[in-house]
Amino acid sequence: MATKNIIIDASNKKYNIVEGEFFPINWGIYLHKKYETWKYNVYDKNNIFCFGRGILPIIGGHRLIFSFKSPLWDGFHFSAMGGAGYVFKNTGLNNVAIIGRCEKPSLLILDRENEDLKIDFMELKDYDIKNYKNVYDLNNYILKKFNEKNYRAFIVGPASLNTNMGGIFSQTVKNGKFIEGSEDWAARGGGGSVLYRAHNILGVVYYGKDKTEKELNEQKDLEKRMREVVEKHYNKPYMTVILEHTKKYRYNEETQTGGTFGNDYHYTLDITPIFNWRMPYIHKNIRIALHKKIMKYFVEQFNKESIEPKKWTNCGEPCPVLCKKYRNGLKVDYEPYESNGPLLGIFDIHAADRVVHTVDALGFDAIEFGNLASWVFELLHVGLLKPEEVGIAKPAFDINDYQTDEDILKNSNYNAELAVKLANIVAFNENEIGKIFALGKRKASKILNVKYKDRLFKHNSNNNEDLKYKKFEDYAVYIPFGDNGEISPTLYWSIGNFMPYLIQGKYLTYYQCGEFLEPEKLAKLSVERVIEEITIENLGICRFHRKWIYPVIESLLKEITDVNLNSTIEELIKDICEYDKKIGYPNYIESQRVKDLIMAGAEEFGNDKWSKVFKECGEEKLREYIKRVSNEYNKLLNIDWRLKE
Ligand code: SF4
Repeated sequence: MATKNIIIDASNKKYNIVEGEFFPINWGIYLHKKYETWKYNVYDKNNIFCFGRGILPIIGGHRLIFSFKSPLWDGFHFSAMGGAGYVFKNTGLNNVAIIGRCEKPSLLILDRENEDLKIDFMELKDYDIKNYKNVYDLNNYILKKFNEKNYRAFIVGPASLNTNMGGIFSQTVKNGKFIEGSEDWAARGGGGSVLYRAHNILGVVYYGKDKTEKELNEQKDLEKRMREVVEKHYNKPYMTVILEHTKKYRYNEETQTGGTFGNDYHYTLDITPIFNWRMPYIHKNIRIALHKKIMKYFVEQFNKESIEPKKWTNCGEPCPVLCKKYRNGLKVDYEPYESNGPLLGIFDIHAADRVVHTVDALGFDAIEFGNLASWVFELLHVGLLKPEEVGIAKPAFDINDYQTDEDILKNSNYNAELAVKLANIVAFNENEIGKIFALGKRKASKILNVKYKDRLFKHNSNNNEDLKYKKFEDYAVYIPFGDNGEISPTLYWSIGNFMPYLIQGKYLTYYQCGEFLEPEKLAKLSVERVIEEITIENLGICRFHRKWIYPVIESLLKEITDVNLNSTIEELIKDICEYDKKIGYPNYIESQRVKDLIMAGAEEFGNDKWSKVFKECGEEKLREYIKRVSNEYNKLLNIDWRLKE
């Protein structure tokens, strides 16, 4: 593996080469430790923004991985973008880090058209940043400027300017045109907010030169060796192996649909998150009835508009899975639609389209925004916030208002309108409360608990049944870290999603929904996921390909480097743990909603033993359960990420 890593100082526009072999997440944590970024505010110019690409020349091996100190989680976090590494390899670089701050809002240009790498900062003089309203607008602006180049860019949207929830957006460009449906997001953790607010950079544009014949031959030879490793292991042709292991994302005969959106609802059934995760208090029969509506107004519509006409494309690398299923020009995935759909009481895909398209256009992490909005909806519903303070009317959030199809569609549309309005209020800090929400649920709760102390007191005295819901955060669903950090879970009612793990908000946990396991078993399965997922992401591999790649990963890697994978991953986990401990500590659950999701999960998922224990002893046993999960997790990972006593 060649040494192709640079640190760019945005303040003086110079760069330094860093010698060494790094995988993308190793690169990020190495620099964060070296520059002691835990000491700085998350928007300080020293919060180094790192990215790097996958290096295995296999299908699914070309992700760009971003890492940073997260404004939401408060610790080290990372996020992946499909296909964006495919063009990035033309720059000849493996890893880049940005430190320092541009004087004016700029784009970073990485140009390797000639032998030497050229780095430029393009000030957005002719772009009205004060009126920046839509990520697609900047995307088009860049296309106009660079359409002669074989380029790709990743950029941030308006949400990155004013909130902690800004994602990073990118779309494939081919022959001077965007590929419909190929847009992708590296959104978890608020990396877009760091890029803009710490470094004054709205995006990075990169391109390089075509390979020489010699280089092409070398690459072909390497790709051939990779294919041989796979074919030898599976005793099947390379393409057959890939297609057999990625059915869910391409097309699943069983469910007769494709992609995460089409398939996930076939499995989440009545435990699909709805109405701000209020499933524990909604009768199963009602949830079953609502799930039928999701199948009718979400999945069936999607199948008609995307699967049947085969509106499928890839993320930018020549991948036969074509997991990007799109309609009306934009891709449809489970998590953005779920968090900005059923979680908000929206059960009609056309109504959800309006919310998702707004949230995307504003450049939010759609998962984070949906979770924030559903929390706000419930606070309005229970009267802890007032419409005139938030700037939107009370949502339809009473399950009794969702009885007939007519009401479901009407209320879906009504809530969609409110969510669109709320997204704008938060993205542009349009009012005082929007500015508070822009911090994220946990940080906002701390402010609201003080601001509305009297209201909380009154609320608690009036609601005897709701006595456990004492504070604003009790209605919010997140995993806490340290004093102020948090992240929303992925959209599954899975016990592993709520445990105090080193990295949450992604799939580095056992996230199978509908199971309630013994704590040690949950920890063991979660640790297996941590290791597999972090290995896949650290090598810049698309996780949709993990099933066929993971069993042969060491053999593939041996073809290009003698780095020991196991010890690298072990060290990486320890490094993240050490780094984050300088910032905070793993935390016991503080939201009542999350406690209820876990305790009710025991009964819901058929674990009689734990269900009885929780009913008889309540939270005392929940603490014991979580402590046992945490102890085993630490033991198996050989780290000290224990709960604060
Ligand atoms: S499965 Fe999808 S995201 Fe992954 S490499 Fe293929 S097209 Fe890209």
